[in-house]
Amino acid sequence: SGSLTCIGTGITLAGQITTLSKDYLVQAETVFGILPDKLSEDWVKSLNPSYTSLQYLYEEGKSRRQTYQEMKNVVCQAVRDGKKVVLALYGHPGIFACVGHFAIETLRNEGYQAQMLPGVSADACLFADLGIDPGTTGCQAYEATQFLLSGVPLNTSAYTILWQIGLAGEHTLKTFKTTQKNLGATVRVLNKWYPLEHEMILYEAPFIPIHNPRIDKFKLKDLPAMDLTSISTLVIPPLTGLKLDQESLNEFGLSISDFG
Ligand code: SAM
Repeated sequence: SGSLTCIGTGITLAGQITTLSKDYLVQAETVFGILPDKLSEDWVKSLNPSYTSLQYLYEEGKSRRQTYQEMKNVVCQAVRDGKKVVLALYGHPGIFACVGHFAIETLRNEGYQAQMLPGVSADACLFADLGIDPGTTGCQAYEATQFLLSGVPLNTSAYTILWQIGLAGEHTLKTFKTTQKNLGATVRVLNKWYPLEHEMILYEAPFIPIHNPRIDKFKLKDLPAMDLTSISTLVIPPLTGLKLDQESLNEFGLSISDFG
C-alpha cells in the first residue's frame, strides 16, 4: 500500500541531501517537491523523472493557509492511490515548513506509513557560515511575524534568529513581501529589547555551491533600508551572554567562587 517519506534536499544544490534521503528519492514511485529554483528541480528530476512541483499552488492573493492544505491533499491522494510517495522540500522538511507535518499527521490517522527524514536547514548553514555555536549562549528562533505580533519577551542573553524576516508583519498570508511601514514597526518592537545601534546580520545561504553566502551586518535602525528577500534570515547577536546567578547557584549549593 501507499506510503509517504518527507525528505529535505538541503539548501545548497546537490551536496546537502543525506544518503538515506537520496535513496528514498531515487526509489519513489511519485515525487512531489517544493524547491527554491529551476536548477534544483532539474537536479531532483534527474534523480527521479516522476518529480512534480507543487509551486503552482502558490498564488498572489490566495491565503497560504489554503495553499498548504491543497499541497497536503495532493500528496495524501497519491498515497491513498497506493503510491510510494516522496515529498522533497528544500532545507529540512520539518523546520519552518508545515506541509510535511500536515501530510504525515493526516496519513497516519488513516493508517498509512508516513515518516520524515532530517535534512540540512538554513540555520544549519547559518551556524557554519557565521561561525556561531548556538550552545555558547543559547539561541531562540521565531517566525518573524508570529514573534512581532505575539508580544512575547526576547531573551537578549541568547542569539535570536527571525525566520521569514522578508515577510515581517505580513499577517494576511496573501502576499509575498513586507512593507516599509511593517519594517518601521519591526524596528520599534525590536528596540524594546535592543538599542537602535545594536548590530545584526542578514544571512542568506547560497543555493549554488560556487556562490558565497550573503552576510550583511547592519544596525537595527537601518533595517528598513535593507534589501530583504524571501530567503533572508535575521540573526541578532546577544547583548550580554549567559551569567551566573547566585539564587540559582544556591539551589545547587554553589557560589560564584566555585567557578574560578
Ligand atoms: N525548511 C526550510 C529550511 O529547513 O531551511 C525553511 C523554509 S521557511 C518557509 C523559509 C525561510 O527559511 C526564509 O524566509 C528564510 O528565513 C529561511 N531560508 C530559506 N532559505 C534560506 C537561505 N538560503 N538562507 C538563509 N535563510 C533561508
